[in-house]
Amino acid sequence: MRMNQSYWQKTVKMPECPIVNTDLKADIVIIGSGMAGVSLAYQLKDLPYRVIVVEKDMIGYHTSGHTTGKLTVLHGINYDLLNKYYDIHYAYLYYLSNVEALETIKSIIEKEHIECDFCENEAYLYTNDPQYVPLIQDIEQLFHAFHVETLKDPQYLESIGLKHQAVFHPLKYIKALVEKCQESGVDFYEHSQVERVIRNHNNYILDVNHKQIECQYVVHATRYPFIKKGMFFAKIFQTKENIDYRKQNGMKSLLSVDIHKSYRPVKDGGLYIDQESQNWYALDSVPLRGVPYIGEIKPDSKEYIIYGFQKWGMTLSQVAATLIKDLILKRENAYKELYSCQYFSFSFLKEYQRKIMNHYYMGFIKPRFDYLTMNEIHKEEGGIVRYHGKLLAIYKDKQGLCHVFSPYCPHMKCIIQFDKKNKIWICPCHQSTYDVYGRKLDGPSLKSLKKKKI
Ligand SMILES: Cc1cc2nc3c(=O)[nH]c(=O)nc-3n(C[C@H](O)[C@H](O)[C@H](O)COP(=O)(O)OP(=O)(O)OC[C@H]3O[C@@H](n4cnc5c(N)ncnc54)[C@H](O)[C@@H]3O)c2cc1C
Repeated sequence: MRMNQSYWQKTVKMPECPIVNTDLKADIVIIGSGMAGVSLAYQLKDLPYRVIVVEKDMIGYHTSGHTTGKLTVLHGINYDLLNKYYDIHYAYLYYLSNVEALETIKSIIEKEHIECDFCENEAYLYTNDPQYVPLIQDIEQLFHAFHVETLKDPQYLESIGLKHQAVFHPLKYIKALVEKCQESGVDFYEHSQVERVIRNHNNYILDVNHKQIECQYVVHATRYPFIKKGMFFAKIFQTKENIDYRKQNGMKSLLSVDIHKSYRPVKDGGLYIDQESQNWYALDSVPLRGVPYIGEIKPDSKEYIIYGFQKWGMTLSQVAATLIKDLILKRENAYKELYSCQYFSFSFLKEYQRKIMNHYYMGFIKPRFDYLTMNEIHKEEGGIVRYHGKLLAIYKDKQGLCHVFSPYCPHMKCIIQFDKKNKIWICPCHQSTYDVYGRKLDGPSLKSLKKKKI
């Protein structure tokens, strides 16, 4: 069985696509085939451009294939934060962009007759902790200021709900979009990692599998940057959560604002995020300014980025798809300024300052004086060991055989940690992940861990 296989991956067979094994030319290259990359390809498919999508692994294989896939505009406490650190206008624009995106997704499903277990439901935020009651009431007031009707669920101390939200099967949706794109001439390539993007006069050259792709426009739909340009890796962090499929059922989508709990229904049960969840994990990127980065990396550069969905990428991918299409076509878009990549918010940074400091402390400082001895590593576990004065990452397999690696993440040389729950190596600084044998699973790192001998 495949590692970290999600409920979605078990219930659909995704299309298989060729690898890049020759030089290519295109008008637009989209890097990444998650919800963001594929939604954009669908928006561009009927324009007079040659569009190529390049994926380092397989279509929908990363976060979009591991999400809980709620289709809702009730994005946790985001509205409250946007109102607090920006103003109500920002919060309203964010809301409107996601409402439009949800409507667009619904209309695509209808127009293309996509069977993706789409089901309308109500989505709720709730608390049973008196401390959090004012927070929910503030969010409720904001929605009332937007002239939106809200609901309450009497089983919670305080709650806010919205009608006409939805759930779907994200991989069935992505698969259908890919097929529609292919019918219109969009080419998808898998197992083709983009290593480098360089500007060459008015064009871009992408290095992929020792071949080159030349194009006019390039879009990074990779969730988190593998490029260092613009230092976006330092303006965003990644967060990981575990999800369980369980038999219990209920029709509403739920999210607690105090303890770590989320639920959504699926056909024959429900998906849960809580302390016990362990069936599979997913990573998403969180922007330190509180607003996703969707737009040109630099003005007039024809190089675009889509990062920082902070666990709301189902509707935000559609926001990004429409916005990037409008930017390429030089059309007006009401949300261009909101998602523009050209501003930062130092006041918002306060929300995450401690977390980020902790990431760097764990990656650069702690492991240099807090390490294990070889005997302290149990079978099927890993850890950082000091051996003849040098730090090593060691995984002991079922038989007790040691697999030894350099502990330095190839991305920025932070020292990796062993995650016992998911049995992976993870970099505390930028959250690149590696399997127990040191093979890279998820970026920003483009390389596996270096093997070492003892
Ligand atoms: C636990 C959890 C639950 C969530 N639940 C919800 C939810 O209920 N509703 C909601 O709206 N959102 C939810 N999200 C968020 C949502 O799933 C994500 O925001 C969204 O899937 C991200 O899509 P993406 O296309 O940006 O990223 P991905 O799906 O990760 O796709 C990026 C792709 O880029 C590829 N790539 C990266 N680097 C390269 C390279 N160098 N060359 C080629 N390809 C590359 C990767 O292989 C990957 O396939 C959740 C997130 C998490 C973590």
